[in-house]
Amino acid sequence: MTVFERAPYVATINGEVFRCLVCAGGLFTSRTIKLNTAGMEFLDLAWANKSSLGVICTNCGYVHEFLGDAVQLWDSASGMRV
Ligand SMILES: [Zn+2]
Repeated sequence: MTVFERAPYVATINGEVFRCLVCAGGLFTSRTIKLNTAGMEFLDLAWANKSSLGVICTNCGYVHEFLGDAVQLWDSASGMRV
């Protein structure tokens, strides 16, 4: 089963290595998640730029969803920031 089309990433949060909250896996893919803006503006979160970053565990598939830019992704093969 191949649901991930890109090389996996290592994720860091403000410089700390991030691991999956479910399985403690360390490799992820990412996907931009569009937010439904009506509720976000009601909650005064329009600053969030109307999308969030989904960081998806390649081991268990759990989607960790982030607003803002604290999360950083690194190509696990090259070590380059994504
Ligand atoms: Zn996982």
